[in-house]
Parts: sequence; C-alpha cells; structure tokens
Amino acid sequence: MAESVELPSRLAILPFRNKVLLPGAIIRIRCTSPSSVKLVEQELWQREEKGLIGILPVRDSAETATVAPSLSQGLGTDSVERNSKSQVGVSDAHKHESKNAQEVIHWHNRGVAARALHLSRGVEKPSGRVTYIVVLEGLCRFNVQELSTRGTYYTARITSLDMTKTEMEQVEQDPDFISLTRQFKATAMELISVLEQKQKTGGRTKVLLETVPVHKLADIFVASFEISFEEQLSMLDSVDVKVRISKATELVDRHLQSIRVAEKITQKVEGQLSKSQKEFLLRQQMRAIKEELGDNDDDEDDLAALERKMQNAGMPAHIWKHAQRELRRLKKMQPQQPGYNSARVYLELLADLPWQKASEEHELDLKAARERLDSDHYGLVKVKQRIIEYLAVRKLKPDARGPVLCFVGPPGVGKTSLASSIAAALGRKFVRISLGGVKDEADIRGHRRTYIGSMPGRLIDGIKRVSVCNPVMLLDEIDKTGSDIRGDPASALLEVLDPEQNKTFNDHYLNVPYDLSKVIFVATANRIQPIPPPLLDRMEVIELPGYTPEEKLRIAMQHLIPRVLDQHGLSFDFLQIPEEMVKLVIQRYTREAGVRNLERNLAALARAAAVKVAEQEEAVPLSKDVQRLASPLLESSLADGAEVEMEVIPMSVNNHDISSAFKASSPLIVDEAMLEKVLGPARYDDRETAERVATPGVSVGLVWTAFGGEVQFVEATAMVGKGDLHLTGQLGDVIKESAQIAMTWVRARATELKLATVEESNLLEGRDIHIHFPAGAVPKDGPSAGVTLVTSLVSLFSQRRVRADTAMTGEMTLRGLVLPVGGIKDKVLAAHRYGIKRVILPERNLKDLVEVPSHVLSSLEILLARRMEDVLEQAFEGGCPWRQHSKL
Ligand code: ADP
Repeated sequence: MAESVELPSRLAILPFRNKVLLPGAIIRIRCTSPSSVKLVEQELWQREEKGLIGILPVRDSAETATVAPSLSQGLGTDSVERNSKSQVGVSDAHKHESKNAQEVIHWHNRGVAARALHLSRGVEKPSGRVTYIVVLEGLCRFNVQELSTRGTYYTARITSLDMTKTEMEQVEQDPDFISLTRQFKATAMELISVLEQKQKTGGRTKVLLETVPVHKLADIFVASFEISFEEQLSMLDSVDVKVRISKATELVDRHLQSIRVAEKITQKVEGQLSKSQKEFLLRQQMRAIKEELGDNDDDEDDLAALERKMQNAGMPAHIWKHAQRELRRLKKMQPQQPGYNSARVYLELLADLPWQKASEEHELDLKAARERLDSDHYGLVKVKQRIIEYLAVRKLKPDARGPVLCFVGPPGVGKTSLASSIAAALGRKFVRISLGGVKDEADIRGHRRTYIGSMPGRLIDGIKRVSVCNPVMLLDEIDKTGSDIRGDPASALLEVLDPEQNKTFNDHYLNVPYDLSKVIFVATANRIQPIPPPLLDRMEVIELPGYTPEEKLRIAMQHLIPRVLDQHGLSFDFLQIPEEMVKLVIQRYTREAGVRNLERNLAALARAAAVKVAEQEEAVPLSKDVQRLASPLLESSLADGAEVEMEVIPMSVNNHDISSAFKASSPLIVDEAMLEKVLGPARYDDRETAERVATPGVSVGLVWTAFGGEVQFVEATAMVGKGDLHLTGQLGDVIKESAQIAMTWVRARATELKLATVEESNLLEGRDIHIHFPAGAVPKDGPSAGVTLVTSLVSLFSQRRVRADTAMTGEMTLRGLVLPVGGIKDKVLAAHRYGIKRVILPERNLKDLVEVPSHVLSSLEILLARRMEDVLEQAFEGGCPWRQHSKL
C-alpha cells in the first residue's frame, strides 16, 4: 500500500477520458496514441527508477464542462482496464484526432499522481507502431496549477492535496471524524461479511480494514465499485477527509444495499428453482411408484408407450422414418406448447393405422356364403346370385381387380346388410362410410395438418376404426356426394376405387401414402343418375327394387320379427304378431319401397310389449316355497351364532335370461286395438285413392323419389278469374312447364274433346285455373307428370271423375305424344303398394317392365299409351266417349 509520497512540482500528464484513477486503486492501461506512447517512453520507460506521472480526468466534449482550462484537443486518450487481464477497447488516437478535430477537451483541475508498477512494450505488426501496457497505482491527489506541453504530451505544474502528518493527527482527534470513521468501518465490515458469505473470500480485505488509514480506505473501497464518472469525480474532489469518508460511507452503503437486493432476487429465483426441482424429484418418485404398480400414465411414459405402439404398427420403412422424425419433434416440445396435442394426435393415428394388420381370410366356402346370404335376406334371388358370382371370382383369383359392386335402390331394401353379409362370407371386418352430403373433397382426403382442427378423411378414419387393412368398406350413398367450390369429392373417390391409384392413396392429413388396395369396396346409392359417369364406370350396378307387400310380409315374418324380439329381450312366448297384423302394419302404417319403417313399427310394438312384461314382473308375488325355505335356515344359523355361508349367484344380463326369469303365463298377441294404441291411427288406407279422386279434377300420377316410387295426386280446380294458371306444391321449372304444356294442349283441343262448344272455345274465359300437387312441402320436379296434368284438367273441364283404380306416368309433348320416362319399376311397385289395379305407361316403356317382379305385374293391368288420347281413353270410366268424334 502506497505511503504518502513527495510529489515533484511538475508532472507529465496522462489524460483519462471519462475515467478517474483514485488513490489506492491499481489500473492497467494500454497506451497506443503517439502522445501517450511518447509520454510513457520518456517519463517511465527510459528512466532508471520508476517515475511518477499525473492522471487527469478529461470529460467528453459532449458533456458539459465545468472545469477549466479548455484546450484544443491535440492528445488522444488511452483505454483503461481496471485490474483486468484482458485488453479491451483500443482507442486510435489519430482516428480520434481527425474525427474530433474541432472538439475541445475539458480537463478536470484535480488529478491523481500515479506510479508505474509494471511496464511492457510491444510492437504492432505490420505498422511497426510501438505500444505500452502500463500497470499504474494511484498515489495521491493533486491540484493542477498550470498545464503546458512538452513535445507531444502535456505536463502540469501541480501542488499536492494530501494532508501533512500533523494535519492528519489533528483531524484524527476530531470527534466527527471519529464517528464518521466508525460508521464507515461498520458499513465496510458489513459489506465484507456479505461478500465473504457470497464468495468465501475477504480475509485479506478484513486485514486492510485494520491496517490502512481510513481516509485511504475510503478511496480504495470506492475505487472498487462500479460508479458513475460524476461520482468518481466528486470522490476525487473530496479533498477534505471527513467529506471523503462520509461520501465513501454512503457509496459503500449503497453498494451493500444493491448486493442485498440482488441477493434477495437470487434467493427468490433459487426458491422457485428449488420448487421445480422438488417437483421434478417428486415426479421421479411418483414414476417409480407407478412403474412398481404397473400403472404408467405419465407423460413421458405415454410417449414411450406411443413409441412402442408405433414400433408395433408395422409401418413400411419410409413411413417409419417419417414417424420417427415426427416423434423426435414431439419429444422436444413441452406438453403445454401449442401444437403439442395435434402432433401427438397425428402420431397416435400413425400408430393406430393398420399398416399390415389384416383379418385372416379363410378359405371361401361358397356354399356357406350362399347359406349365409339366404339366412340373412329373403328373396333378392338375382342379387344374391350376382354376389355369389362375385365371391366365386374372388375365390379363384383373390387379387382380381373386378369392378366395385354398387347396390342401387331405395332406402331399407337391404343394401347395407347385403354388404355386411359379403364381409361375413369372406371373413373380413366390415366398415361403413357415409358419403351422404359430402361436398368437400377434404371429407374424403382429409385436411392438411396446417389447418386448426384438421382431421383425416373419412376413408382413413374408417380404416383406423376397423383396424385392419383389408376390410369390406361400404361407401354408403355414393350418389349423394356433390361438388362445389370446396373441391370435387367424386374425383377423390375415383382415386380410391382405381386399383392402379389406391395403392398409394394420399390423405392430406396423413401426408404419407396409404395402401387401400387390399380393401374390398362396396358402394350403395339410391339412384344411378347423380353418380358421376367416371365413377359409375368403375362400378357394377346391382339394382334392388323395392319389395311388394307380400315380400315385405315374408321378410317381416322370417327376419324382422325374430330380430326385433331378440333386440328387445323378448321371445315368441311373450309377444306374437300374427300375419294379419303385420299385413295391416304394411298397409296402414308404411308406404315405402324398403322395410325400414316396417322394422321401426315392429320395434315399437316390441317396446310396448317389453313394458307390459316388465310391469308383470313387478306384480309377481314372491313364491311361498321360497319364503318357507329361507326363513328357518336363516333363523337357525343366526341362533347358533354360526357363520352364515352365502352363495353368490351371478345375475346374467342376457335378455333371454331375464325374460325367461319372468315367463308370462300367456303370450301377448298383437291385435288391431294394440296396433292403434301403439302406432296411432292408420296413416294410409286403401280407400284413400278412391276418396281423393271422388271429385272431378283430381288424377293419380306415379312419380319417382329418392325413396323409390310414389303415388302423386294432381288436383285442378277452376274459379272466377282472368284466365291465369296458378301452380302450387313446391314445383320445379320442368314440372311448371309441363303444366303449361298440358294447359295449352287441353285448350287447343277443347272442342274436339267436347270440353267446350265452338262459340265458347276459350276454356279460360272468365276463370282462373289452379293446379296443386299435394304434400306441398316436398319439392317436386320432372317431366313425368305431363299425362297426369292433362288428365286432371280434362277431368275438371268435363266434370267427369277419373278412375280411382288407375294411376299413370309419362311425359307429353305439345302435340300430345307420350314420351317414355324413368323409374318404371319403382313406379309400378308403388302403384302395387297403393292397391292400384291399372297403370297407364308410355308405350316405349314396355321394355322396362321386365324388371318388375312377375307377381306384381300379374296383379296389375298395364295399359300402354302412345298418344295423350290413349291415356284419356283409359283414365275415365267407360273410356273416352268423345274419341270417335275426334279428328285427331
Ligand atoms: P339400405 O342399406 O338399403 O337402406 P338396410 O340394409 O339398412 O337398407 O336394411 C334395413 C333393414 O331391413 C335391415 O335390418 C335389413 O336387415 C332389413 N332387410 C332389408 N331387406 C331384407 C331382406 N330381403 N331380408 C331380410 N331383411 C331385410
């Protein structure tokens, strides 16, 4: 530690930019500017004994100067490293000089004399410039009297500001000084002990506190803190020791406080850290416990389980690689991180998909398959035959890429159940994919994973559900897909059904190809027309016409009733539905091509019966025998104090067992009263047609809907008006035009048809005509109502009733030609269902009658019409009396 030194009256001055060297501080500087190099060289390097130099702070010109004198800058400043080993911030004096040529340099008028503790010289390559590294120790303050230049550097005339020994002794007596000293030492001690705690050092500093005079200690302490230039300056300016000590106390105290605050923060952070560490430890323990219990549902265990599942999924090599990449990504994510869940769900899908898992296809037994089809379905002989053929081909050539079977027919005719029978016959799993209302291609192909809430398409989803790669997949209602702006699902389906392409089916969500070639596709549709031709091209259409009432009766008796009873836990011992009643259900409660509603109605009867049985059960008294047996046994056991042994008899949940447990004394037989009670009043009856055509102006048409054929009444009425035609009943453009054509045709032939005399040939004179198609809420369209419209108008104008037993269909041209229409088979079946006896059809539809079951045909009189007059001839009782007079 520096003792008080004798200062010379003149010192070479080294300027320190924005920096103060306080007495007692040791500093290492690198001199690079020509002036400082010169100064070091002359004042320190070339001298025998190490000389003294003066360190004078200078203020950056940007800062306000308060000190004088100001000189034009001609000197550079050197970089300073406080007690640092590394050398930083080399300042280039020349650059600096040229940059700040106009700047003024503000010298502080107090400085510190410094002694060089160490000097080293270096030569910069390739410029050959000499630099010095100097370690300086601050000794004592001085005052600048006068500044002058010596060559390239400054010198100053100075006076020492240190107190003499006697002055010092005097001050030491000062009570203020004593208390200030005590306060300083206490604060300093506190700081040291805090630092000691932190760094486990400080022994040496403590010794300092004991040995070094307090006014020097003040400088040494302050010099070791990071404080502002202003504070350093004011410390330098504290020539009075009392001021210096109190300032130092303040600074030491501030430093102490800042350390304490920092420590508090660290403690807090550490506290939190240790909390999470604690949690981590607990989790580890929990995992160990769970592992011990074989109960691993932890997150990481989950991932491990997922990885295991992925390994067992049998993915092809390239997909396994992709999956691993995704898994690595997932592992790096935090569970709370957005995207974690979706990435996980995706991997779950990859792991769940049956990449190789297939149902084992057993040797196909055609006889068994035929038996199965027969036992599941009544009738449908041709359809079953076609299915057997299909299966036979598969048996001979398992990888045959035959066309996809497509069952077409109204709802409830057994399309789905046939497909599931195929699956059963082949021993494969069955999955149904509903395509009804699919307008978005993404429904088939999935959404890309970049979308929020993205999902795989229905096909991949179906494959996941069924979890084998070779199921029988039913593409249900393939005719109900439509295309709009969101793409064309049909084109995606085309890829699915194409054996060349479906090997590498590309689902957007899955993003890796999936092999669908092992899947057997079966499609269903209600109608052929809406199926896009390219799709239809890939399929073999098998039409399932609707059933006749007789067929429905057989289906009900042989298949539906046993199945419904079984589903409701009943048997024939509880409920019997006689044939007569089933017939009534068919006639009065269902008017459908299939048997779905019939099945539903039968189920309603079964439910009602189940309630009755359940009520009976409550009323059954406990058998006396049981009571007699139970009581003494129980009593004696208790009396003896012996243990009561109990045998637990398992309660079976099998419906049969429950029902047989409460065997009713006599079965419930469904009668008309029960039908009405359970199913409500009859919805249709045979007299309906007769009643509806009781007034002139009403005719019976046959139309085609997605539910098969239907009977459609057309009502026409006239009223006072201006000759307008009103049409109601949710009609489309085509049907409206048909009405116009019908009106025109009737008006044009009014006199020939004897609807009007020559004088009053304008049928619409003073009246409006209103035509209505009942079931007003159902949209209707198509040209096949043409003949029905004319018939109703002729009936209206002639005031003659149309025959109630006759229904008709056919398009009519303006000239009265009857054109063929579609859906003949369904329409004829519908007429048969409605109890209609005579059907008028376009002559050119004759060929379509081969599709109609013969027993239906035999129960109907089919009347063929070429021209409208032929229709009218047949539609009215006693024919068309005006015909012979007609010139047509
Ligand atoms: P679709 O798919 O044509 O709409 P489903 O296959 O769902 O009709 O058939 C409806 C119900 O009718 C099913 O319970 C089915 O078993 C039954 N069903 C239909 N046709 C027959 C039939 N020919 N023999 C026995 N049950 C039938």
